[in-house]
Amino acid sequence: MLNLVLFGPPGAGKGTQAILLAKTFNLVHISTGDLLRQEIAAKTELGRVAGELIDKGELVSDEIVISMIEARLKKPRCTVGFIFDGFPRTVAQAQALDKLLTKHHSKVSVMLCLVVEKEELINRLHIRGLTSGRCDDLETSTIEHRIDIYNEKTSPLIKYYDTQGKYFPIHGMGTIDEITENLTQAVKRFHTKPQAAVSK
Ligand code: AMP
Repeated sequence: MLNLVLFGPPGAGKGTQAILLAKTFNLVHISTGDLLRQEIAAKTELGRVAGELIDKGELVSDEIVISMIEARLKKPRCTVGFIFDGFPRTVAQAQALDKLLTKHHSKVSVMLCLVVEKEELINRLHIRGLTSGRCDDLETSTIEHRIDIYNEKTSPLIKYYDTQGKYFPIHGMGTIDEITENLTQAVKRFHTKPQAAVSK
């Protein structure tokens, strides 16, 4: 199976690019942000708890997101693999994902990390906030807080995957098409080589 973790700070373009890569490589796209927003729209108790945290730019608990992923992976489906978007966001989530995939006789193939300058992230999130109406993209203080949380809790995953030889930084500046091309080339390079022979 080809299991991709699409990684990067808020505003790096993970959602947009994950949809495109899922189409190109025939993968099932799993976005924890989308799953949480579905819970909010359905007005569930989980959605109420998550919504309060999301609006403040905080992470939702590991327990909640891990159980959502567990439920998604249990759904029977015929696929060549998954693309995880916005998950994992903590080391505990990455460890849980490894365990869950092992249960399914699979593993993370590669972590593609979109590298984007902070100023560009803030610009992109502001623009998205104006068009999508997402509260967490509107306030500069919330955006900055999300980037701080990324640096503190999520960026340690770079080391986590690098230690396993699975970390691939991808230039994430430029047009959507240019970034898609960078990602596609990286996946193809990875996809056609046996795992042990992959180099950065
Ligand atoms: P995203 O759509 O990936 O930008 O996620 C929007 C928000 O949902 C994040 O700022 C978090 O509050 C929450 N969220 C999404 N995925 C996770 C996750 N894996 N762990 C914790 N919180 C998450």
